Amino acid sequence: MSEVLMDIQNLAKHFVVDTNFLGKPVAVLKAVDGVSFSINKGEAFGLVGESGCGKTTLGKILVNLYRQTSGKLFFEGKDLIALNAEQRRAYSKDIQMIFQDPYASLNPKMTIGDIIAEPIFINRLLPKNQVEERVIYLLNCVGLARHQRNRYPHEFSGGQRQRVGIARALAVEPKLIVCDEPVSALDVSIQAQVLNLLSDLQDEFKLTYLFIAHGLNVVKHISDRVGVMYLGKLVEIAPKKELYANPQHPYTQALLSAIPTINPEKKKERIILQGDVPSPINPPAGCRFCSRCFKEMDSCKGNEPALKEVSPDHFVACHLFD
Ligand code: SF4
Repeated sequence: MSEVLMDIQNLAKHFVVDTNFLGKPVAVLKAVDGVSFSINKGEAFGLVGESGCGKTTLGKILVNLYRQTSGKLFFEGKDLIALNAEQRRAYSKDIQMIFQDPYASLNPKMTIGDIIAEPIFINRLLPKNQVEERVIYLLNCVGLARHQRNRYPHEFSGGQRQRVGIARALAVEPKLIVCDEPVSALDVSIQAQVLNLLSDLQDEFKLTYLFIAHGLNVVKHISDRVGVMYLGKLVEIAPKKELYANPQHPYTQALLSAIPTINPEKKKERIILQGDVPSPINPPAGCRFCSRCFKEMDSCKGNEPALKEVSPDHFVACHLFD
């Protein structure tokens, strides 16, 4: 049986966007609103959904860039929420993030050698005289040459900068890496190279990934299981093969139908969703997808569907399965 590395229980992150004259919240953006799932040791868990569904906010909570509003986080069985700020920081080394925009996430005034060495110094992982050797090793792991350590981020292409971001994340030997849309800012021709690199590094360093993306096509090759988010909620979780072959939630079916294919036998009828994603400040009552769902029933507006296991390891939040 798989060993759970990160267990996320009923996690929520709400942002107050407006208050009345007494300072009381009158508008609250529910970016993440009661999400539960676990990430097993050594797996790549793909988290997918449209922009604004809360997936990046969730990732930032895991790496301690945001404090959750409520819910529980267990890492290797340890309750991270119960830790004080200093104890929580000690766990930061084990949970790293690769950011969407490699240029914005690298300090333009530092050489890439210094950028990769910085977390090693901060965490006091090696004696000073061994750090350079480690930086060269990490550059080599991500396909960059040793002489490039003296260059600055602007001297690299987008794909190379993302390789630097990956090397920086690896520098502290993390157990879990949150990959936040790591290829969405890259040219299509470079995306496959970076995905292959991440996959090779996962095997080499026995890494666990939470791989965030806005499309199901990106996570298809790298993920073992996939979770689909919509407006702050998880609507479907399943092993990759099961999800792509047998999607159950109407939203997942629509996302999958949007993946282009050149194989005429695999061509599916495109499901065009009507309307825009509703505001997370004022989400629809009942099922949050009901304003765009092509299978909506009368009962969908009244009650929020809970995530239920509809077949082994396949969970769906939809009243079609009540
Ligand atoms: Fe559609 Fe209803 Fe299922 Fe929501 S609960 S996804 S509105 S069928």
